[in-house]
Amino acid sequence: MRIDILTLFPAMCEAVMNESIIGRARKTGKVEIVCTNIRDFAGNKHNKVDDMPYGGGMGMVMAADPIYNCYQSLYDRDEPKPHLIYLSPKGKTFCQQRAVELSRLDRVVLLCGHYEGVDERVLEEIVDEEISLGDFVLTGGELPALAVADAICRMLPGVLSDDLCFTEESHFAGLLEYPQYTRPAVWHEKSVPQVLLSGDHAKVDAWRRAQSLTLTMRRRPDLLNEKTLSADDKKFLQKQKILPESE
Ligand code: SAM
Repeated sequence: MRIDILTLFPAMCEAVMNESIIGRARKTGKVEIVCTNIRDFAGNKHNKVDDMPYGGGMGMVMAADPIYNCYQSLYDRDEPKPHLIYLSPKGKTFCQQRAVELSRLDRVVLLCGHYEGVDERVLEEIVDEEISLGDFVLTGGELPALAVADAICRMLPGVLSDDLCFTEESHFAGLLEYPQYTRPAVWHEKSVPQVLLSGDHAKVDAWRRAQSLTLTMRRRPDLLNEKTLSADDKKFLQKQKILPESE
């Protein structure tokens, strides 16, 4: 898979995408990530990519042409148009399910806005989807683009050591993950739950499922639905008086 990041700050994106698991995935060819500087497509003497907003108001707006030309430079006209995502607080909030779906595409382009945003006309012409990281406003689209790229990359085959690394994680199957522990077995007089030291895999699995269910019910009841709850799960939650008997 190839991920393009169109940005005014390619060095910032490269620095993050060169580290740790994603950096290794790039080196071993499991993913290609290309960061392109929109300013290289400014097309004017001073490399200016922004201008004052029509109608007045605060700040500057990213102009259409540099973004359009930058995007057009990325692919041949006889190739299919790559899926372009504009990172925007007005977009649909990102989630694990969308990360999985996007990881199945051959190519994704992430467009990072800055200043007060981007001229609407270029968005109308090239954007396929708008994604938000959440209901808050950041100074630029780089952090959301890096978060989206990271979430996509770890879903690609071979990027994590085993599929189990993500299938049991929070949000993959609609639940929050159980608590994790590592050595030492006692830390600050707190012991690791005995069941995790028992070596009994069935008991460990049952304990983890119960922890996941309880945690999700307490912290994010909005995540639980018919699809995520088995008959055994419902029985467990009723026994714990977390779900009413009638459910
Ligand atoms: N004036 C815009 C508004 O009110 O919707 C906000 C512009 S913001 C200061 C500059 C850029 O940061 C945006 O163009 C977008 O690319 C990015 N951005 C800011 N917050 C974001 C969020 N929550 N999710 C995704 N991108 C965001």
